[in-house]
Amino acid sequence: MTEFKKSRFAVGIDLGGTFIKFALVSETGEVPFTDKLSIGTTAKQEDILNTIDQAIRLTIEKANENGVDLVGIGIGSPGLCCDGIVVGGADNLDRWENIPLSDTFSHAYDMPVMIDNDANVMGLGEVAFGAAKDCTDVIFITVGTGIGGAIIADGKLYGGYKNRGTEMGHVTIDHKGIDCNCGGKGCLEAYASTPALIKQYAGLTGKNENEIDGFYIVTKFREGEAEAVQAMQEHTDYLGHAIAGFINTFAPQKVVIGGGISEAGQFYIDMIKKSAFSYAMRDCAANTDVVGATLGNLAGSLGAASLIFRNII
Ligand SMILES: [Zn+2]
Repeated sequence: MTEFKKSRFAVGIDLGGTFIKFALVSETGEVPFTDKLSIGTTAKQEDILNTIDQAIRLTIEKANENGVDLVGIGIGSPGLCCDGIVVGGADNLDRWENIPLSDTFSHAYDMPVMIDNDANVMGLGEVAFGAAKDCTDVIFITVGTGIGGAIIADGKLYGGYKNRGTEMGHVTIDHKGIDCNCGGKGCLEAYASTPALIKQYAGLTGKNENEIDGFYIVTKFREGEAEAVQAMQEHTDYLGHAIAGFINTFAPQKVVIGGGISEAGQFYIDMIKKSAFSYAMRDCAANTDVVGATLGNLAGSLGAASLIFRNII
């Protein structure tokens, strides 16, 4: 482990709906230790805080065993995060509002603790260590049960005033469209999340939605089944439309697509890219590429740790 000692390390905590993933991460993206702890679906606020504490403790123990220079703790959490506090908006976690995560753990461990929204830190992770390494202007989109994302502008996470923005899944793609979970109508998420894809495919085939998942549709797509091809084309076209708007607004160097279904294969990214470029303004897209995320389920922990490296001198 001696080669690690030259580098600074941080604890990266990725709080999800049912698990806490955590890692010891070096400034250059090495991960000598990673693990996860279950919080189940019914954990109380106190249990969640205790499990975060346990995750931090386990990671610090590993850091001490390896004699590395630990400079801080980064945490990605569902919900709105501002000034070190989870303000709210994480409906799946018990009373997850007005939680002063930074103060709580910086006092407990006597080191800087930085927090941000989970999708934001995933995007930051891809910029720090993954698909958009060395880029300064990046749009990150994660496609799953919902659609989230992050904007990195001029090398920094951009979250709007008080970090309340960048809900990339809730741009309108059909103003007279179907209802969205957010209370709006016609949002990207309502059309292009994985459940929306499944619903669309089930509608075309008459199959039971509950017996289909994204993997099944990808398999049928690869076999050339007409309904799967149609559903996948519409799905990627919805994403392409929204991404074209992001390209026209932000002129990113890269649009990074993450989430489980993005691992279906390069064809998935290529379909989205083709669609996005067919709608985007050519001048805005001149320096843009559309690529798949590369950090998989480590993106959150790595990105959380990078909050520290980017902000601690
Ligand atoms: Zn919405």
